Amino acid sequence: MPEYEFQCAKCGKQFSVEESIAEHEHHHKLKCPKCGSTKVERRFSPVFVKTSKKS
Ligand SMILES: [Zn+2]
Repeated sequence: MPEYEFQCAKCGKQFSVEESIAEHEHHHKLKCPKCGSTKVERRFSPVFVKTSKKS
């Protein structure tokens, strides 16, 4: 499953979203998981996913 990388324009939080979810959320606007801002930008960085999810 490909993932899209997003970065919050407000707090700078970076997060990745699965393609299916990203496509779905595209119509609803993604929210930053940290601050809840909808000002998120998709990042087209090469696949370099660090799976360090500490919540
Ligand atoms: Zn944020």
